[in-house]
Amino acid sequence: MKALVKSRAERGLWLEEIPTPSLGINDVLVRVLITGICGTDLHIYEWDEWAQATIPVPLIVGHEFVGEIVSVGANVNDFHPGEIVSGEGHVVCGRCRNCLAGRRHLCAHTLGVGVNRAGAFAEYIALPMGNLWRHGRHVDLETAAIFDPLGNAVHTALSFPVLGEDVLITGAGPIGIMAAAISRHAGARYVVITDINPHRLKLAEQMGVTSAVNPNEKTLKGIQKQLGMHEGFDVGLEMSGNASAFREMLANMSHGAKIAMLGIPAGEMAIDWRQVIFNMLTIKGIYGREMYETWYKMTVMLESGLDIKPVITHRFAWQDYEKAFEAMRSGNAGKVLLDWRESGGRIRSGE
Ligand code: NAD
Ligand code: ZN
Repeated sequence: MKALVKSRAERGLWLEEIPTPSLGINDVLVRVLITGICGTDLHIYEWDEWAQATIPVPLIVGHEFVGEIVSVGANVNDFHPGEIVSGEGHVVCGRCRNCLAGRRHLCAHTLGVGVNRAGAFAEYIALPMGNLWRHGRHVDLETAAIFDPLGNAVHTALSFPVLGEDVLITGAGPIGIMAAAISRHAGARYVVITDINPHRLKLAEQMGVTSAVNPNEKTLKGIQKQLGMHEGFDVGLEMSGNASAFREMLANMSHGAKIAMLGIPAGEMAIDWRQVIFNMLTIKGIYGREMYETWYKMTVMLESGLDIKPVITHRFAWQDYEKAFEAMRSGNAGKVLLDWRESGGRIRSGE
């Protein structure tokens, strides 16, 4: 099969012909239809410090995908060829305290698809049956392809109740923008999002935020005043990984506010902890998605009108992966998709 492989310990990804994965008795073999490119994939492509320390070479990369089941292992009873599925990107151990207690998203030994084990940028991927989510008929393939990052957004945005609350999101990347749509769907009063990239602020506006703010041009204090807010934001979703964005957030939260942190800072990040203490803030770290409560919530919110399609801005055939990664790198993109279908990809190349 064709696959995008990190086959050398240097910058780049290479399209290679490799054997189709073999199937264990608990595994499901999926023909990949559409994949999404994640920031993580870009780090692996660029071969930065994190990637060098983390990625075993050679490795098929990628973890955001939708596909069709082609065959199942002997132990698999409840998945069948022809079903449309996505994969949960964290393969958990099943044996640690949290796994045994049913809190699989808190597994102490989780392995990442396309990070620690073979990924989805390929014609086929094999995954344990416990890592698959079967899609309902109402979910279109492109939305299904990005259930992984949508799940990050849902897990973060629903970490704290937002009904009637004022929500501040720092970082209008694909996940921040989806989190804005989710917060709206879940009944927030105001949803304010910040970014320094005008293209992304515009995309956030199209998704229906109350206000999309460039912190280099306007202050959050000013926005609060403009909206008639008096006590600060009730819920914060940190989705930039940027220290100054996070500090701005801390300075604009109400007493007793809740912050869910998804953005991954490049290194240690200093803050004024007195703000956390005296303003009695709760800060919660978020990694991945809840298995499978987040997946359930995604499915039913899409069924009840949540629309995140506008976040998908670019579509490429797998053969054009270099162009797709370039679109990601430019920053002037929302979600970038790679189409692995024989015909589909070729016809719909480009924006
Ligand atoms: P992204 O890099 O596309 O988006 C981050 C955005 O933050 C960018 O648009 C950037 O312009 C913006 N930004 C930079 N400086 C800013 C500032 N000072 N103020 C406001 N915004 C600023 O990433 P994404 O794919 O949307 O993911 C969001 C974050 O979540 C990233 O940090 C990513 O690494 C992280 N992430 C975490 C998990 C997890 O499980 N914890 C999973 C996926 C992604
Ligand atoms: Zn575990």
